[in-house]
Amino acid sequence: MTPDQQSMSHTRVISIANQKGGVGKTTTTINLATALAAVRKSVLVIDLDPQGNASTGLGVASNNRDKGSYQVLSGQILAQEAIQKTQIPGLFIIPADMNLAGAEVELVSADYREYRLQKALENAGLDFDYILIDCPPALGFLTINALCASHSIMVPLQCEFFALEGISHLMRTIEKVKASLNPILEVQGIVLTMYDGRNNLATMVADDVRKYFGDIVYKTMIPRNVRVSEAPSHGKPALIYDMRCAGSRAYIDLASEVLKQEQSIAA
Ligand code: ADP
Ligand code: MG
Repeated sequence: MTPDQQSMSHTRVISIANQKGGVGKTTTTINLATALAAVRKSVLVIDLDPQGNASTGLGVASNNRDKGSYQVLSGQILAQEAIQKTQIPGLFIIPADMNLAGAEVELVSADYREYRLQKALENAGLDFDYILIDCPPALGFLTINALCASHSIMVPLQCEFFALEGISHLMRTIEKVKASLNPILEVQGIVLTMYDGRNNLATMVADDVRKYFGDIVYKTMIPRNVRVSEAPSHGKPALIYDMRCAGSRAYIDLASEVLKQEQSIAA
């Protein structure tokens, strides 16, 4: 299947990426996935970060990760063999297995090194509404594989001083991937995370990002919220841990913005 044909199937593959660590990629992946599953979308999360935080946050025990994204990338198993159920109906995960840390180096000399994930997903013929790929904090081969397998990239951005600097590098990488590897890749949106409205700098950065990037910035801002940060240690998405907290409500709002985007793409 060419990327064009792939884009016509109903599955939407979204990479959650930003080369900075600690900006809310994993938190966004887990909670957006949960919010989409809550409205009866079928969702697969692929944990592509060797740290395995998405796997932990969705309750996959560390001794239950021997079949994971590394084995899929390296062609040892089929994607469908690595898929596990989560505690949330409709939400599935391919966890990050231990060997993923070595994948970045091994991929350098692999055949089709940028397209390993894309091919694995294509061969599996999976039938999900959404596939969300949680990327590692680097723009190496793992993230490139995610971007080559995706229709779009969602960028979580923390409202801090260096945020804009990092994002221009990321935008250049997206343009390069689009030009040479995956022409259909588009920016799904930028989501402002860990927002604290009492902090003047955060407000200024948020305003700047909106001025600069306009409509691709989601209206929803994810507030800094202690319940959101507690949830992963319970192996649960914030939405399950405390559905009513401000962070969970924001992720529900983000999911409805994403669903509206899908309607406008279809129209
Ligand atoms: P990344 O995947 O980009 O490295 P994470 O999603 O793991 O970032 O978030 C980094 C840290 O910040 C984690 O400890 C996470 O629990 C915490 N965190 C993320 N989003 C929020 C939020 N909205 N409020 C409070 N803490 C958050
Ligand atoms: Mg992460």
